[in-house]
Amino acid sequence: SLAGKTAIITGSNSGIGLGVARELAKAGADVVLNSFTDRDEDHTLAAEIGKETGTNARYIKADMSKGDECRALIEQAGACDILVNNAGIQHVSPIDQFPTDKWDAIIAINMNSAFHTTAAAMPMMRAAGWGRIVNIASAHGLTASPFKAAYVAAKHGVVGMTKTVALETAQEPITCNAICPGYVLTPLVEAQIPNTMKEYNMSREDVVKNVLLERQPSKEFATVEQLGGTTIFLCSDAAAQITGTTISVDGGWTAL
Ligand code: NAD
Repeated sequence: SLAGKTAIITGSNSGIGLGVARELAKAGADVVLNSFTDRDEDHTLAAEIGKETGTNARYIKADMSKGDECRALIEQAGACDILVNNAGIQHVSPIDQFPTDKWDAIIAINMNSAFHTTAAAMPMMRAAGWGRIVNIASAHGLTASPFKAAYVAAKHGVVGMTKTVALETAQEPITCNAICPGYVLTPLVEAQIPNTMKEYNMSREDVVKNVLLERQPSKEFATVEQLGGTTIFLCSDAAAQITGTTISVDGGWTAL
């Protein structure tokens, strides 16, 4: 059980972050949800998770594109035994047309935020004598696709930082790993299906199998519950010697 542990999950009012937060709370952890929005429903979501699981769940607003807010999130939480760096955005464009503001935002949110949160959390983990850092990278942290230069650069960067942090903490009871999901059916991905159906004049089933899951040999999406389960495994004693590595949850994508 993760009872008594505080888990901070960045970008967790939707999708993978929310799924991971729910699984961590079910395993007994006190979770901190985060996004930049600070709406009533964000706080309600945290309250519901706390009620359902009998844990102390909170929502803290912080914009992960800003280094000082990343650090403030950790400070405000007051404890950080488990840090899940999950916040991320995407933009698709050829390199010569890639908007500089999109490049900067992706590098800041998808990569730099993990630097700031990890730096702020490290003294707390050392003081507590235990820590788990789980970076939600991507199959794009290990391979590339055209038109995703910023995303692929940021995710490869996260995988590199994961290895370095693992070496710096190798002789302490702290581990740092990256999970590399393939396609996960989050609201973000779901929203692309209707337009893609029109664009290709395809059924939903064909869009899912032949467009979205083209590179995912299993032809099935990974689920947010599976990513939560992988996170919990990395937090378990069985995973104490797993550090500085990646775990792919991608239906065979990176085996191709
Ligand atoms: P999503 O859009 O559902 O969730 C993204 C989360 O990040 C949201 O909670 C959003 O509020 C938050 N966020 C965005 N910008 C932020 C900011 N500036 N400050 C704070 N929070 C911010 O997307 P998702 O699919 O759940 O993606 C989550 C992570 O998983 C991302 O890092 C993404 O790259 C990665 N990932 C997703 C897939 C997939 O197929 N969905 C595959 C591999 C990796």
